[in-house]
Amino acid sequence: MIAQKFLKEWERPRKRMVEEQLKARDISSVKVLTAMGQVPRHIFVDDTLAARAYSDGPLPIGFGQTISQPFMVALMTQVLDPEPGDRVLEIGSGCGYQSAVLALLAKEVYAIERLAPLREKSLENLAKINISNVFLRLGDGRLGWPEKAPFRRILVAAYTERIPPALTDQLAPQGRLVIPVGPDSSQELVLVTKDVQGQLRRQCISGCRFVPLV
Ligand code: SAH
Repeated sequence: MIAQKFLKEWERPRKRMVEEQLKARDISSVKVLTAMGQVPRHIFVDDTLAARAYSDGPLPIGFGQTISQPFMVALMTQVLDPEPGDRVLEIGSGCGYQSAVLALLAKEVYAIERLAPLREKSLENLAKINISNVFLRLGDGRLGWPEKAPFRRILVAAYTERIPPALTDQLAPQGRLVIPVGPDSSQELVLVTKDVQGQLRRQCISGCRFVPLV
């Protein structure tokens, strides 16, 4: 539960973000709208950017990385559709904002970040708002987290031309994997589902623009 103190801060811009950037577009999942109406996004950006935290775009978080646009976080989460009992694998946790949204909707989030200072920052951010069900490891997310596999849900926040095989291997039957796929110039948000027999199916959701998975 996020402390009341944070729910009150920047409450109106956050509500407006939910109404104008999410509800007014394609975000209809009540649980996603509720979670994004609660997570204090301004905590996850530099103090000097707090006033822009609820604006309709990505923002820099240092080290050449960005916090994704609110709409993109909402869309990915809606497509992922995490359920309360799920363990979610998240690749590229950046400042931890997407991790916080997932933490409110799933049982546990296993997040992997490649850059140590961003991992530190997100641990700090998540602790500040009392989120304790995110486990954050430093490493190469392309390898997944085999000790904790399989995962019912996997979300990747950086693009790749080829979906890392470790991730589809670590996806549980009836699982969902959301990942931006493509070359730098034209990326698509892709949903990969695995059926009970282990068969994979791939579906394009929309165009998108991410930083690369490296
Ligand atoms: N969703 C994040 C932003 C993601 S930006 C947020 O809410 O802030 C993409 C992140 O992926 C960056 O932090 C980058 O360092 C990380 N990344 C890129 N390649 C990676 C890899 N192979 N393994 C883990 N993290 C990676």
